[in-house]
Amino acid sequence: MIPRGMFRPALALAILTIGAATIPAAQPDFAKAHEEIVTNLRAFIGVDTMNPPGNETRGAKFLQDLLARDGIASEIYEKEAGRGNLVARLKGSGGKQPLLLLGHLDTVGVQRDQWTVDPFAAEIKDGYLYGRGALDDKGMLTVCLEVMLLLKRLNVPLERDVIFLAEAGEEGTPQVGIDYMVNEHWDKIACEFAINEGGELSFKDGRVHYVGVSTTEKVPRPVFLYAKGTSGHGSKPLLDNPVVHLGEAVARLGRWQPPLRLNETTRVFFERLAKISPPEEAFLYENLEDPVLGETVQMKLWQSKPGYNSMLRTSVSPNIIEGGFRRNVIPTDARAQVDVRALPDEDPEKFVELLRQVVNNPRVEVVMSASSQPAPPPSRLDNEMFRAFERVQQRMFPDATTLPVMITGATDSAPLRGKGVQAYGIGCLRTEEDALRMHGDDERVQVAGLRTFIEYLYAVVLEVAAK
Ligand SMILES: [Zn+2]
Repeated sequence: MIPRGMFRPALALAILTIGAATIPAAQPDFAKAHEEIVTNLRAFIGVDTMNPPGNETRGAKFLQDLLARDGIASEIYEKEAGRGNLVARLKGSGGKQPLLLLGHLDTVGVQRDQWTVDPFAAEIKDGYLYGRGALDDKGMLTVCLEVMLLLKRLNVPLERDVIFLAEAGEEGTPQVGIDYMVNEHWDKIACEFAINEGGELSFKDGRVHYVGVSTTEKVPRPVFLYAKGTSGHGSKPLLDNPVVHLGEAVARLGRWQPPLRLNETTRVFFERLAKISPPEEAFLYENLEDPVLGETVQMKLWQSKPGYNSMLRTSVSPNIIEGGFRRNVIPTDARAQVDVRALPDEDPEKFVELLRQVVNNPRVEVVMSASSQPAPPPSRLDNEMFRAFERVQQRMFPDATTLPVMITGATDSAPLRGKGVQAYGIGCLRTEEDALRMHGDDERVQVAGLRTFIEYLYAVVLEVAAK
């Protein structure tokens, strides 16, 4: 079944100019493209690229063959043997800077005994294609590859080069993936705009409910707490017991929330989300900053939507406590680790100072991990690229909306933004439940949704890159 709100091709014709005559470029046969995506994705899932160890070159070669069949040349770059990054390019007129389509080849591992299907057999069941990487990120990558194939086959005249990057190491080893490509092969992928994972066609009640396009992400800034005291016998309690002081510090941080601060992306996110939400939820999104209701509303949001709550502020979650080794020994020290996810514009130094004030205990040292460089600013909402996401949504899913999203996790868009690229996250059609299976058991992608997504992505790419 194809979801409601399908693409209306007549509105999205690419115009091809030959001499004085203007004729519409051929429209892709999306039914065929869809079949091809399903076939390719099933085979791709069968190529094991679990990281560790990665073995991304296997995946890179698999995609390289698919490109080669249509005469698209590509190159594999390895920082370490077996950790390949694949790059292909369709040339444009050079009138504008390139557009980069990227995704990652590697996947996380599996807890095989928790899966109800073989994670590498790419079984199709009840309208879903199951397998590790189905959503994260082989589905996205397969659809990006299909865009390349369609552009090439239809010989679409391009104003920008369209570059395809299938990268290694996204799942925890960026030194062989995006960092390597950005630092050592930038000339191969330099671009003005990038389309990466990190967003979605959010599917609810049988239709696309919203298109989530990420424009920025929070910055992981791990914080460590160290408490010191005097060691002694457990039978004689001491006032400076570091376990007690650390415990107090952890409790203070865990119950505290840094002040709310919206940026352009999150402000528009909550404004637009309110418009498509049931009244009781919309009330929360509309009153986040209300001088009277704000505090209660924010607490309600923390209770009911912890993900949205985290978008409002830098988040602080103490997740590891270590201290002591015998019940009858008072230890000399105790330690804790705090997962801090900072807003992109948070000043790390000032924030640590704020944490010290909250802890308010000279026996507990508060330290932020070394790499505290400022984060790149969010990608813009008022440029050609973001408007293309919105325009195609309005054509294909007129009842939906486009939500700019600040994701609370991390993707490889951050290093690209660091190079000045306007990078955006999008992704396959998925329900809330499908999204929860990413990195989890029985990961899956809706088969019909792959057609919706190729039509959406192809139209977006045409808007931005075609002549
Ligand atoms: Zn991913």
